[in-house]
Amino acid sequence: MKKVIIRKTQEIENWRRNVNRDINFIPTMGNLHNGHIKLISTAKNDNSNANLVSIFINPLQFDNKLDLENYPKTIDNDINISFSNGADAIFIPSNEDIYPPNNKNIKFLKAPIELSSALCGLNRIGHFDGVCTVVYRLLNLIKPKNLYLGEKDWQQLLILKNLVLRKKLNVAIKSIPTQRDFDGIPLSSRNVHLSKNERKLISFFSSELLEAKKNFQQEKKINLNEIIKKLSAKKISIEYLEHLHPHTLQKARPEDNISLLAGAIKCGETRLIDHVFLMQRRPIIAIDGPAGSGKSTVTKLIAKKLKLLYLDTGAMYRALSWLMIKESIDYKKEKKLQNILKDISIIFKSNINSDQDVYINNFCVTEEIRSQKISSIVSKISSIKEVRKFLVEEQRKIGESGGLVAEGRDIGTTVFPHAELKIFLTASIDERAKRRKSDKNSKDSKEIDLHTLKELIKKRDFEDSNRKISPLIKANDAIEIITDGFSIDEVVDKIIDLYNDKIPKETEIK
Ligand code: C5P
Repeated sequence: MKKVIIRKTQEIENWRRNVNRDINFIPTMGNLHNGHIKLISTAKNDNSNANLVSIFINPLQFDNKLDLENYPKTIDNDINISFSNGADAIFIPSNEDIYPPNNKNIKFLKAPIELSSALCGLNRIGHFDGVCTVVYRLLNLIKPKNLYLGEKDWQQLLILKNLVLRKKLNVAIKSIPTQRDFDGIPLSSRNVHLSKNERKLISFFSSELLEAKKNFQQEKKINLNEIIKKLSAKKISIEYLEHLHPHTLQKARPEDNISLLAGAIKCGETRLIDHVFLMQRRPIIAIDGPAGSGKSTVTKLIAKKLKLLYLDTGAMYRALSWLMIKESIDYKKEKKLQNILKDISIIFKSNINSDQDVYINNFCVTEEIRSQKISSIVSKISSIKEVRKFLVEEQRKIGESGGLVAEGRDIGTTVFPHAELKIFLTASIDERAKRRKSDKNSKDSKEIDLHTLKELIKKRDFEDSNRKISPLIKANDAIEIITDGFSIDEVVDKIIDLYNDKIPKETEIK
């Protein structure tokens, strides 16, 4: 496909018709660096959409005339960089094109006050209104499927996600982590203005933030005053340094597993921002739902795609049920049961099929626990107080440092109530029975007719949802997904999109 430069808004419609594909949109203000290159190449590698880079210095987002005049302009170089890294088209509109005088169709937007009054919004009056106005205008002109933005401007990213929701725009926002230079400072078009000494100071600021992030992993706490003292000792002028909730931008609370440490400093005439995310443990996804809702298949795929540990808590209840039958354990006797549970070990091990085997007291029970015999007794056993206490503790131990996706009935409500993402996966009873019948892991389901299978699932649903301790219910903050009519891949992609929306890319461990 021919690479084109578009200079007039009217030409966009034509180009869109010609390419006849969905569009990835990468908005920039030019003076492109490796951060922009990463955005363009990520868009290129994500899918086979057409990639459009825009270069437009938006006057509305500058509160300082001099800053606007001095903003670096390197258009020829930007064109080369964009095309050589995967752009199919570059949109370089003029001011009059984006804001035609006397055009009543141009909407001047306001950024939401809750997000724009914090951090940079305090001193850059009108900045985020200008960002919302230009991005809304560009999105309406370009109508992309995906919008690529850097996490470096985290507050801007939040405000634009909010804009997309508020205006019900049909565009997915994809983000990339902050790209840093050799000396640790975030890449920024404004870095060209820095003197050697200013650069050194910023590098000190960034390394303090990165150090705080490292320390937080061990100590689980942060001392803002200490950092401020160190920066002040170097005569670094601090505009703000805040520890906040990463999405609401309200003060961080102790229970926030991921929080944002963000700062702005001034070096000479140049103002620079940087941030890190502090994490107590890696993220957790909780997937709950009734039998046959597709939890296992979906959870396994998510674990693989997001490189998370997979925890099948149902397999633990099943394994325990298997042992109770095998050793004729009288599970009605509380005291005796407590003693028996003390000596039970349930572990998961990867097998040669890159799947997991379940072992209970060294017996590999992966296949046997899928029998109808176990299915019919497991709900009874899982309703016993001692059993739940024992297994919930075991599950929490496995999830202590996070980085896992767990499936079950009570993950979001009891096992990991602070999971970053909670999904309640369900489907109609007909659909679930059909799935169970064709489930290759559930061998004897094939021999049971569909009607009986439906009744058995209904009975298990009833028992799981009506037991006294942690019954199967949707957690208040869980997102319900009804999977009837959706393919496995569609459900997996939906959950991964929700995860990416909540979890900054920067928190990923390389
Ligand atoms: O998911 P699966 O069908 O393997 O779960 C088997 C049974 O284990 C469920 O029907 C339920 O009784 C029990 N279970 C539970 N809590 C969990 C996971 C499973 O009570 N977190």
